[in-house]
Amino acid sequence: MSGRAQHCDCLVIGAGPVGALLASVLARTGRRVVLAERGTLERTPSGRPETRGYALSAGSVTLLEDLGYWAALAPFAAPIREVHVTRAGTLGSVSIDADSQHVRALGQVVPAAAIDTVLADALRESGVQVLEQTRFAELGPVRAERRQVVLDKEGGQQRFAPRLVVAADGAHSATRAAAGIEVLHRRYDADALVFDVRPARAHQGRAFERFTSEGPLALLPQPGGSMNVVWVAPPPVCDARMALSESERIAELQALFGWRLGRLDAAGPVARFPLELIRARRLHAERLVLAGNVAHGLHPVAGQGLNLSLRDVAVLSALLQPPGDPGAAERLSDYEKARAPDIDRIVAATDFLARQLRVRDALTPHLLGSGLLLLDRIGPLRSRLAERAMGLDPLPRRILRAIPPAGAVEVSA
Ligand SMILES: Cc1cc2nc3c(=O)[nH]c(=O)nc-3n(C[C@H](O)[C@H](O)[C@H](O)COP(=O)(O)OP(=O)(O)OC[C@H]3O[C@@H](n4cnc5c(N)ncnc54)[C@H](O)[C@@H]3O)c2cc1C
Repeated sequence: MSGRAQHCDCLVIGAGPVGALLASVLARTGRRVVLAERGTLERTPSGRPETRGYALSAGSVTLLEDLGYWAALAPFAAPIREVHVTRAGTLGSVSIDADSQHVRALGQVVPAAAIDTVLADALRESGVQVLEQTRFAELGPVRAERRQVVLDKEGGQQRFAPRLVVAADGAHSATRAAAGIEVLHRRYDADALVFDVRPARAHQGRAFERFTSEGPLALLPQPGGSMNVVWVAPPPVCDARMALSESERIAELQALFGWRLGRLDAAGPVARFPLELIRARRLHAERLVLAGNVAHGLHPVAGQGLNLSLRDVAVLSALLQPPGDPGAAERLSDYEKARAPDIDRIVAATDFLARQLRVRDALTPHLLGSGLLLLDRIGPLRSRLAERAMGLDPLPRRILRAIPPAGAVEVSA
């Protein structure tokens, strides 16, 4: 192990969308930030294929605009102009469209790979010290107001002494476990298969959610005409679908979804995600804080995971701004107070939806699912419920305006 521990203000563990975004914003405020990722920043084509397309609510888009990242993401985004909800075996359907809500789009779908690329570029410009292929190994005690941390890189170990550790290493966080923070955990009897298809007819910004007795099937519009499929079913059904040839799998999808967009053709690899609920019992420990999936892992039924996580990033970015000690106990307990109600509300709503999925003829919860995407834009809701539920006003938006634009801050090495 190398000799003296390296000092920094914040050591962020995990460069998923949450860790990468937070590290780059904190560096812009003048914090000295180190970011450790067990893989590499750009996961394609050499790393794991990232097949997801994130449905971002209008509130998340506003937040990314305020932080200065939306302009780079916009060319990769497809606006959702209509959400069409149906239930297999019934004629019932419900639609919500942007015009009736007096908005230009109900949300935007951005490929996860595009977010990875844009954030990798932002990190390069922001002065963050990025350690790729570096894994969290050990959490030590607090000494002289710094948390001791050991990281593993290619068999060797490096010691760090940050004022604050940010655990952003995903739902099965080793950092959270090392801090002794317990979680509420429920494995749903379901996995999601995620891949792209190309429909013969233009999607025209329509998103489709079809509820079947096995689970929800969503087709989200993507730029360039393809659609991102999120196909949820019990694990044995997913096993059987993974064992099919590509053409057999698409034929099964077509039979379930129908022909409203004409013939569907496969347009990429299939990835599989186990679905689970995770809620950390606390959001912080001494000089350590949790963000994103480390704090909350959700069923993807309403596409809320990253939307919720972006609000963690907004509040943390606001609370950790200089001057002063970023790991001070009051800042971390302010974060817990600010975030817990929003997290609890979204965890409860998505868990309710996930468990209602097999209720016959119940379109209402599914409409609620689509409606979650709109929560921050629907007029009558906006003034009270949405502003509090989405956690965007007034605290983060006001404080985020104080974050210097990219390139404006010199970060010392
Ligand atoms: C099928 C599916 C569809 C979804 N669709 C949507 C959607 O439409 N809209 C939406 O808002 N959300 C959606 N989500 C949720 C979204 O994927 C998550 O909220 C988001 O990925 C959380 O990002 P994160 O950075 O917290 O965690 P992750 O993306 O899990 O990133 C964690 C990072 O930490 C790294 N890491 C792990 N362990 C270590 C270690 N020991 N040391 C160093 N690094 C480590 C990992 O390599 C990874 O890069 C979906 C999720 C699923 C499963």
